[in-house]
Amino acid sequence: MSYDLIIIGSGPGGYVCAIRAAQLGLKVACVEGRETLGGTCLNVGCIPSKALLHATHSLHEAEHNFEAMGLTGVKPKVDWKKMLGYKADVIGQNTKGIEFLFKKNKVDWIKGWAKITGPGKVQVGEQSYEAKKIVIATGSESSPLKGVEVDEKTIVTSTGALELGKIPKKLIVIGAGVIGLEMGSVFARLGSEVTVVEYLDRIIPGNDAEVAKTFQRLLAKQGMTFILGAAVQSATATKTKVKVTYKLRKDDSEHTLEADTVLLSTGRRPFVDGLGLADLGVKMTERGQIATDAHYKTSVDGVYAIGDVIQGPMLAHKAEDEGMAVAEILAGQAGHVNYGVIPGVIYTWPEVASVGESEDTLKEAGRAYKVGKFSFMGNGRAKANFAGDGFVKILADKETDRILGAHIIGPYAGDLIHEICVAMEFGAAAEDLARTCHAHPTYSEAVREAALACGDGAIHA
Ligand SMILES: Cc1cc2nc3c(=O)[nH]c(=O)nc-3n(C[C@H](O)[C@H](O)[C@H](O)COP(=O)(O)OP(=O)(O)OC[C@H]3O[C@@H](n4cnc5c(N)ncnc54)[C@H](O)[C@@H]3O)c2cc1C
Repeated sequence: MSYDLIIIGSGPGGYVCAIRAAQLGLKVACVEGRETLGGTCLNVGCIPSKALLHATHSLHEAEHNFEAMGLTGVKPKVDWKKMLGYKADVIGQNTKGIEFLFKKNKVDWIKGWAKITGPGKVQVGEQSYEAKKIVIATGSESSPLKGVEVDEKTIVTSTGALELGKIPKKLIVIGAGVIGLEMGSVFARLGSEVTVVEYLDRIIPGNDAEVAKTFQRLLAKQGMTFILGAAVQSATATKTKVKVTYKLRKDDSEHTLEADTVLLSTGRRPFVDGLGLADLGVKMTERGQIATDAHYKTSVDGVYAIGDVIQGPMLAHKAEDEGMAVAEILAGQAGHVNYGVIPGVIYTWPEVASVGESEDTLKEAGRAYKVGKFSFMGNGRAKANFAGDGFVKILADKETDRILGAHIIGPYAGDLIHEICVAMEFGAAAEDLARTCHAHPTYSEAVREAALACGDGAIHA
């Protein structure tokens, strides 16, 4: 019952940390309160939402593009129960995969909810364990909103939305962030009338403003309605409907909407319930995150924290990278995460992806930059595949040409962005990308064209 390292939480932060620490020779256990491994990401987050996005995107293709390609015949019918079954199967394959990796790497899985009872001491149920080091990777939960009581049936968070009993005729999404728009997209493609109510005057705050505008226009074309600058006051469920009231911020006027289902997606907050952090004296930030130093150490010796429960973007790959870095640090190596190159992706159609600086942050910093932009309309592959909506925008230093950031809205943007991430890690200039031969015909050629546009100009623009 004694370990070099006990990790609390088996999400992408925790399980990656466990595997890397075991690979580096530490005796490791990972405590998980959920029935299955993989955390929010594999059970109720990234993976199930992407399964539903894939299924419904396939439906969209069949309904909208098949006929134009000479594929005629019976249109697919939606069997929602079966679609949920497919999603459950995908979750099962992934969570069992982590179980297999734990066995392979000799990581012990301790089942139950952990409490830290003192430095180096972890209690799970009746059993106490000792560890030289403890890593907290307990993740996050949906943030509540005053006046909106979640029942996970008619007023749901993303967790309930992934398990709805039936496809709603009308869905109101509160919050135009990543999760709200991904889930909104799923149901819009399934035929729901989707209205998104957002407090700010724009969607996907934090993303490039031009991308956000194009994105909103394209989602509206797909049938989604947006009410921006609207502060939701309440959501009240009756037996059959939910009533949402909101106030328009510009004139304080009050309005009401009705729907079968409301999805609350106004953000997530760190989850630390039951860990005993206050008694242990672990310092928290003002935003309720566990405060850590640059090496993920908390204010208590021997206790570390990573992932959604600490500061930084709440993303699975950020948690994974921190998991690897802290494992390396604890094994005596020099673990490191480059926070300047963490991509963010929205898996709608088209996809949205970004990395590094935006025009807003560069303007704020007073840094001189140039923009290279290329539309997917000029990309042969995209045109052939009904994927000409969107563009690639690369931001480079005006003097040195060094790539500072990139913003893509278009087909497989979430994959395309990595070419730019690698370039940024190597401190590349836009010209380096522009002079790299790109296979034809690929979507990647649009990235090269945007890099060319940072110099003497794109060819196909
Ligand atoms: C609908 C949705 C879609 C998302 N899509 C994406 C996406 O496409 N890409 C992306 O990068 N991110 C996405 N995210 C965010 C991503 O899921 C999180 O950033 C990621 O899971 C954080 O990993 P983590 O390891 O910090 O914590 P988590 O994955 O939240 O895991 C924490 C685990 O700790 C366990 N735990 C908590 N307390 C205790 C305790 N006391 N004892 C034992 N176990 C405990 C929990 O049960 C949980 O399993 C999505 C999130 C949601 C909700």
